Amino acid sequence: MAWPINVSGAVIIPDYYDDVLTMTPADEQGSSLNSSITRLRGVGPKLAEKLADLGIRAIEDLLFYFPIRYEDRTRVTPIAALRDGVNAVVVAEVTLASIVPGRRRALVAKVADGSGVMSLRLFHFRNAQLKQFSPGAPIMLYGQPRRGSGAVEMVHPEYRIGSETPELESHLTPVYPTIEGLGQALWRRLCGQALTVLDKEPPPDLLSPYYSGSFGWVEALRFLHHPPPDARLESIIECDHPAQLRLALEELVAHQLSMRQLREKEREQPAPPLRGSGALRRQLLASLPFQPTAAQERVSSEILDDLSRPTPMLRLVQGDVGSGKTLVAAIAALEAIDAGFQVALMAPTELLAEQHLQNFKTWFSPLGIEVGWLTGRVKGKQRQAILAAVTAGDSKILVGTHALFQDDVSFARLGLVIVDEQHRFGVHQRLSLTEKGGNSGHPHQLVLTATPIPRTLSMVAYADLDCSIIDELPPGRTPVQTTLLDNSRRAAVIERVGVACGEGRQAYWVCTVIDESDTLTVQAAEATAGHLTGALPDTVRVGLIHGRLPGSEKESVMAAFKRGDIDLLVATTVIEVGVDVANASLMIIENPERLGLAQLHQLRGRVGRGADKSHCLLLYQTPLSQTARARLNVMRDSNDGFFIAEQDLRLRGPGELLGTRQTGLAQFRVAKLPEHEALLDQVQVISDRIAAESPETARALLDRWMAGRDSYGRV
Ligand code: ADP
Ligand code: MG
Repeated sequence: MAWPINVSGAVIIPDYYDDVLTMTPADEQGSSLNSSITRLRGVGPKLAEKLADLGIRAIEDLLFYFPIRYEDRTRVTPIAALRDGVNAVVVAEVTLASIVPGRRRALVAKVADGSGVMSLRLFHFRNAQLKQFSPGAPIMLYGQPRRGSGAVEMVHPEYRIGSETPELESHLTPVYPTIEGLGQALWRRLCGQALTVLDKEPPPDLLSPYYSGSFGWVEALRFLHHPPPDARLESIIECDHPAQLRLALEELVAHQLSMRQLREKEREQPAPPLRGSGALRRQLLASLPFQPTAAQERVSSEILDDLSRPTPMLRLVQGDVGSGKTLVAAIAALEAIDAGFQVALMAPTELLAEQHLQNFKTWFSPLGIEVGWLTGRVKGKQRQAILAAVTAGDSKILVGTHALFQDDVSFARLGLVIVDEQHRFGVHQRLSLTEKGGNSGHPHQLVLTATPIPRTLSMVAYADLDCSIIDELPPGRTPVQTTLLDNSRRAAVIERVGVACGEGRQAYWVCTVIDESDTLTVQAAEATAGHLTGALPDTVRVGLIHGRLPGSEKESVMAAFKRGDIDLLVATTVIEVGVDVANASLMIIENPERLGLAQLHQLRGRVGRGADKSHCLLLYQTPLSQTARARLNVMRDSNDGFFIAEQDLRLRGPGELLGTRQTGLAQFRVAKLPEHEALLDQVQVISDRIAAESPETARALLDRWMAGRDSYGRV
């Protein structure tokens, strides 16, 4: 049994002692990596249940439970060479021990190793323990030395006393993330046992024909759990150690293959070729007060080309805020309608859905096309009527929220599904709409996202979609000028709002709180609206909008703002997406440091839509952390959504950027983005080869990495 756990009684009792005691012998014989962890020694039903909560069910799962750091117990450090605060193993002899009374009673022992003397201090001890510390007894300690007034001391080191031969570890000691009730010793034992099974029955190295690095599958796993004493730990901490890269590569390949599978499955479905006469499209374009940009033209024709095929389109349109994605969506919708099919347009929030409804009504009504509306709030007769019209095929386009997914919605001839803001919906939700095609086959899918994602990342997040980018803003826009101000300037900011509104401009005042779901947001917005109403001249009409308002009220507030009947709109981040009021040219965002850059960029995109020079004031709370400062500087210095997204990714990681969980990106076991971005080209090449050459390898990789992992988009 490895030091420091020794149940002989000569060793201190760590807090995980209970775990050790409850370990019951079990049959490790014949267990393999995919057998249940209950096959391991010490894993009874209760522990198994706890582990299952952490997603650890098979022995193999333990191999993916990686240490967060390591301790070096492979060598002995002379007392004289101990460095303050640096953990070390000391081998010495007890010279003196006593129980020191006082406010905090302690057992204090002096130990010497020839190079020097140090003391150890225990606050939790049993009186009987003093006996162990008899002068001359050999002792081995591991702990953090502190150099006080002259003497070196370790408080509560792990120690073993009475054994002549110190047992050093042959590898660095892993320190696992611990969970309530599951201590370090337990994790070390469990992962150690899993490694034994791994060694006994090494699984095939699935990447070996495709990758020639210094680490194989088994070596990489063993290395990360039990690194040799000379391992480059900084590199492991930075996540760029070759062992980690080997595993990350495999995981990303598996992910890529699973996305590819998803896409192939989808592509195998027949879809109705949507070829209209183009009459409706021409009519719409003729009615617009502007010309489509070259980027809009290009992306539209990519979409029309996809639509004309008998396999489902799976296309993502990325475009910065204000780049005009709606028009592109409208063109696609008209083509489908022209060809005699129905269109479903789904947005993540009611407010955004309403914006689309307004837009499409304005554009489509003159063409004689009614726009249907369905959200969870549409009830009773109204709901019956719309559902009937959809089922009969009379309603050509239905706009709404995720309510469109619901079972009672059935389309006669659904040809095209448009989803705005993809990252808010899971792959599964998106696919469930495609089941609604009725007899006409799978509908084509168009996904719009205003959260620009760095290209490399989108390759991972949206590997199941083709990608089009609207990389041009409509002409005549002047970039929003962004200014950072600390909260002490609030009064001056309010004055500035008063002046702007006095000149006939409109403004947004955005309130944020830490937890979006909290009623606090609403309270904060209400309080702010009240305060601003009091502080501003009477001529400034203040409105308020937030997520808790009933849909009809939201709609009427937005309509009033659009009409210019409200000068200052106090809002929560509900206005983040889609809201489009060209006359609004000033935005104040309170506590911008609480939001992700992508979200800030979205918010800011609500201004700068008209010809007036627009301003965005980020009213931050001091003190700002260095990262927060860096992030706000990015906002101040750039209006380019792609650049901002890239910086955000660097500063915060992908989970936050994409909305954790929804893409599965944040849930890789080993792979980290953007840290492992450099692997992605290789990932592409290897996945292509495996897909072409070895379906068995592909299957094995999916089994290894994806089994039971919903978020990867397995169907
Ligand atoms: P987003 O890509 O953020 O969804 P929208 O589709 O809401 O952008 O478009 C933003 C604004 O720009 C809308 O008012 C829209 O009518 C207008 N717009 C779209 N395309 C053009 C264009 N080619 N020229 C001028 N204005 C345009
Ligand atoms: Mg939009």
